[in-house]
This record gives sequence, structure tokens and C-alpha cells, in this order.
Amino acid sequence: VIIMECDFLKYDSEHVWHPCTQMKDHEKFPVIPIVKGEGAYIYDAKGNKILDAISSWWVNILGHSNERIKNAIINQLNKIEHVIFAGFTHEPASLLSKMLVDLFPENINKVFFADNGSSAVEVALKMSFQYWQQKGKTKKTKFAAIEGAYHGETIGALSVGGVDLYKQIYNPILIDTFFAKGPACFECPYGKDRYSCDAECFESLENVIEKHSEEIAAIIIEPMVQCANGMNIYSKKYLKKLYKKCIEKEILLIADEIAVGFGRTGKMFAFEHAEIKPDIICLSKGITGGFLPLSTVLTGDEIYNSFYDDYTNLKAFLHSHSYTGNPTACAAAVETLKIFKEENILIKNIEKSKKIYNRLHELFANHPNIGEIRQLGMIAAIEIVKDKKGLKKFPWEMRIGFQVYKEALRNGVLLRPLGDVIYFMPPYIIDTEEINLMTEVAYLSINKVIGGLNGT
Ligand code: PMP
Repeated sequence: VIIMECDFLKYDSEHVWHPCTQMKDHEKFPVIPIVKGEGAYIYDAKGNKILDAISSWWVNILGHSNERIKNAIINQLNKIEHVIFAGFTHEPASLLSKMLVDLFPENINKVFFADNGSSAVEVALKMSFQYWQQKGKTKKTKFAAIEGAYHGETIGALSVGGVDLYKQIYNPILIDTFFAKGPACFECPYGKDRYSCDAECFESLENVIEKHSEEIAAIIIEPMVQCANGMNIYSKKYLKKLYKKCIEKEILLIADEIAVGFGRTGKMFAFEHAEIKPDIICLSKGITGGFLPLSTVLTGDEIYNSFYDDYTNLKAFLHSHSYTGNPTACAAAVETLKIFKEENILIKNIEKSKKIYNRLHELFANHPNIGEIRQLGMIAAIEIVKDKKGLKKFPWEMRIGFQVYKEALRNGVLLRPLGDVIYFMPPYIIDTEEINLMTEVAYLSINKVIGGLNGT
């Protein structure tokens, strides 16, 4: 491992404003310079290796520096790096559209390209709104979503998000959206269990739909897991009920698969658990194996045809990003999908998920400060509480999760938490030894932080 002089750190501290960060935190806990990545590990400038247990914000699903994806990118760069995607096309985007469409039910056969998750959500919202305008249902001008939802941080995406932490200050400038209570399975108000319930909590969204269906253009949802909301895993029955209601009331259903797509929950796409057919599907993050920014919005003939007309009728979908359909990113995505198929990723993940499950239960099932262990496929999370019995939480100002994060980093594992939820979303190439490391460092770090509070 190269140990290099880190001159660039000086420039970072002088000029770089990092995402989702209170920059003052870096006075005491400096940003870590990364110089290399390989497999499940990233390497800092001092040569320390850090296990990337969260796939670098859930994107790096097949490991860092994956040889196949790297070579696919290099091959593409030897042809063309980027070209305008209006009026022109290329092999990587065309091939990718075919490979993607083949993964979905027959109602999905059109692919619109964007370049990050939030922009895919913006596309989905605009597309569903314009669809109804062009169908003559002009009162359908609003969206509905649920509390705890996260769809990105641009203004439109924030408007359909339901996590106050990210949106509260912007409320005065957000689009007016209908919100219902969402599944809150960790402390279910109905006293039910997510694996055996009948999604009683759907009644809140059902009421919103009953009351406002004439105005609702689309409902957007993260199928099976609200990731940013502390990995809130909920019942597939919720999605089944929602799908049925959307058909009955003529509301488009947008599945935001940006975080849960590409095998993360055990199925290729999370909505498959519920056997539903969303009208619009947003994909991003893992689509390029975490190498380059890319997103896609998939839909079918019904929506596509409502835009298809003579130019002068002004129905075209006038949405574009400069890097739409970037060939290099598309080449990375094509290779990622080939790897899924040729290397049996979904099948191999079954064993890995079980190992994560077993290890977490051995370590945490009886832990006095773990309120719940939850898991769906390659997403697992543990919820730190003050007292397991009453499920009492620590005051958020104590930043317990953040302290665990810092301690785990000192021990070579990247476990960036969501509040006091520590989660595990590793690259699928993780092996048994790395699963053990990731879970044991979590265990030791939690004990050290909580032990420190008790003075033990
Ligand atoms: N939707 C979901 C479900 C997400 O988890 C995220 C990102 N965490 C987004 C949308 C936004 O994606 P991006 O960060 O690429 O804008």
C-alpha cells in the first residue's frame, strides 16, 4: 500500500464543503483521505484499510476496483466518453435499455435516462403529472407519499420526502404534497409484527387516497424498506394493498428502487416481493456497480404514448440533463448487469445474508441496548436503545450512533449510521471473515460507547 504525502488535505480543509455534514465536526474528527479501493475495502493515506460495510452510500455493490467494470469503462473510453443524447444514441445505452426492460414485467418497456437518484425522482414526478394533463385529467396535480419516505434532496424529491431532518427548514418552498402515516414497524402502533401483520397501517394512506384521489397524480414509495428512515423494513402486504388501491382510483404508482434495487433485498428489485406492477420505476446507485453516476426511469406504452404526438401539439417530455445517458456510465451498467447474471450474484447472496443474520443474532439478540435486529436480504440493521425493555431511545443530542461510527472507524470498519441505527449494507463480494469483522467491530464499538456512558 502506498503511503503518500497528503498535501491535498490542506486544500480539502480550506475549500471543500462535504455533503450531509456539519463541517464543524471535522475540527475534532478530521475527514479521512482515501487513496485506494479494493474489494470490500478502502485504504487511507496512511495505509490503513477500512471495510466499507455500507457500500459507500449503498452504491458499490460489487466491490471497489472491480476488474470487469473497470475494463468495461476503459474499453468504452477508447471509443467515446460522452455524446449528446438528444438526436444521437450509442451502443451502451441501447444495450442497457434492453437488458433493463428484460428484468421487468411486460408493462415496462421504455427507459428514460438521468444521472442521479434525485433527478430520476424529479423525472418520475414530472412525467406522471404531465401524463394526466395530456390525458385530460387536469385536476390531478398533486402527489402523495408517506412519513419516513426519502426520495432525494432536490426540491421536488424533498417535497415527497417524509423525513423532517432533511426537509423541515425548506417546507416553505416545497410542493404541497399529501402525506399519510407510513409503516412504523419498530414500534408498531397496532402492536403487530411486520412478518405476520396484515399491514393495518395502510389505513392512513387509504384514507388520503379515498379523500383526494381526484387530485393525486401519483404516489411514490420505497418498496419494502425505507432505507434513509433507519432501514425501516415493512410488510409486502402494504405494497399489495397500495397497488390495488392505485388501480382502483386511477393513481400512478412510482416505485423508488434507487436504494433497494439490484439485489439488495434478496430479489433483483424489491417490489417483486409483493408481486405488483408499478407504473414508473426509478433506478440508480448500484446500477453502475458504484463506479459512475447514472439513473434511469422506466415506464411503459400507456405513459409513453400520451407524450407521442406531432411536435406542434407540444406534448414532448422536455426534460434533459447534460450527462443524460452518458456512454461510460452506461457501459459500467451493462457490465454490472452481466456480472449479476454470469456470476449468480442473487443466489450467492442468500448464503451471505444468512451468515449476517446468524452473526447479528449471536452478538445482539440478548444485548440490553439493542431494541431490534431487522434484516431483508443484504440489508441488516440494529437499533440502539437506552433500555431494551421499554425501547427507550437515547436523546438524539447524545449522538450515540455517531460515536459508534467514530469508534468503528478506529477499528477499521465504515459503519455510517442513521441516527442511532447501525446498519450493514456491504458489497455483495463480502466474505465470511469480513462479515465477522463487520459485525464484531459493531459489537465492540457499541459496547465501548455505551460502557463509556456508564463509566464502565
Ligand atoms: N431515493 C432513495 C430511496 C434513496 O435512498 C436516495 C439516496 N440515498 C435517493 C432517492 C436519491 O439519490 P441521489 O443521492 O443519487 O440523488
